[in-house]
Amino acid sequence: MEKNNKHPRSNRIYPTRPCLNKACSYGGKFTPHDKRQLYCCVQCRINASNDKRSALNNGKFVSEKLLRRYDQILSKLYKKYFKDDVCAVKLDIILHEEIDLRLLTSDALNANTNQRIRWMYDYGTERHPKDESFIIIYKR
Ligand SMILES: [Zn+2]
Repeated sequence: MEKNNKHPRSNRIYPTRPCLNKACSYGGKFTPHDKRQLYCCVQCRINASNDKRSALNNGKFVSEKLLRRYDQILSKLYKKYFKDDVCAVKLDIILHEEIDLRLLTSDALNANTNQRIRWMYDYGTERHPKDESFIIIYKR
């Protein structure tokens, strides 16, 4: 009988952990089959490394600190401009608050508009589908 022990399949169960892809669209949590596994699936691993690369290509690495600051600013704008079930804010105001929309690392497709929502922690932004001078802010 021939045995292949090069890649023995582990039957160990590891505790559920968060998927490191911030824009994980599979629930954000998974049960790893290997203790080194950082993402719930191959797609999340690819997306996360693409996001990291595009952030690096912009010449600036997005720090957690910056994301938290942007989240705070977006929270403030969200409260101020939320009206009739939507929060549309003039692009000028976003720029005035010094939010650099090119920098944000994680995003997810909005199936309703077929555009990307760029997420910080609790808040995300999307270009207005009908008026490019507006940005829509979403809250998770
Ligand atoms: Zn994931």
